[in-house]
Amino acid sequence: MTIQISIDGKQITTTAGKTLVDVAAENGIYIPTLCYVKNKTCLGTCRVCSVKVSGNVMSACTVAVSDGMKVEVDEPEVSDMRKALVECLFTEGNHNCPSCEKSGRCELQAVGYEVGMVVSRFPYRFPVRERNHTSGKIWLERDRCILCLRCVEFIHDAESGKKIFSLSKRGAKARIEIDTELVESMSAGQVKVAANLCPVGCIIEKGHGFNEPIGQRKYEKKSIRERAVAKNNNE
Ligand code: SF4
Ligand code: SF4
Repeated sequence: MTIQISIDGKQITTTAGKTLVDVAAENGIYIPTLCYVKNKTCLGTCRVCSVKVSGNVMSACTVAVSDGMKVEVDEPEVSDMRKALVECLFTEGNHNCPSCEKSGRCELQAVGYEVGMVVSRFPYRFPVRERNHTSGKIWLERDRCILCLRCVEFIHDAESGKKIFSLSKRGAKARIEIDTELVESMSAGQVKVAANLCPVGCIIEKGHGFNEPIGQRKYEKKSIRERAVAKNNNE
């Protein structure tokens, strides 16, 4: 069913039931995301896509558009909320971008630039997190994990369909685990998919650290904002 919504005052004609974050992107309006993957089940773990819908704060990846919906993205209070969430993610882990293999290709870093983050308003926790180097294929750098759960929900063993990544413990002790046997049976292509799916530098392909030169890295060639909008316009 064709409907009308407004985003930041712009009148948009779209189809009922589509995901708000996609409708925005299709119409050239960028809403930052970190856990969301287009055409996959919404995880709703990061909340970085928070916007106001009829005055209430909601995560745009969880909202299906309906007729008459009034959405605010570029609004001071909710813009600052998104920025605060991103700042929080930086302080919850240990992020040293200049020495990180994912730098220039990292969604958290790219979103940090988009929301105008310079420094976090929150105290840095400097958590002690054990790395997992046991696999011959994947290096799990838990310092950088934002617990988006993309790996847990979207990466499965090709034969058995079993999950390769899982979440253990709770709260501040929550961490990602890998099934060491299943990881060893992953093809090089699957490892690459997992590493690319991780929005930060937590899942790293062993032996493929700093392959792309500075200036040629993903978000240096085209910003995450430009990519999000272009991707939805089939560019
Ligand atoms: S994961 Fe991203 S934000 Fe964290 S250190 Fe690496 S580049 Fe920086
Ligand atoms: S390892 Fe990467 S994909 Fe998995 S939960 Fe952590 S940040 Fe998300």
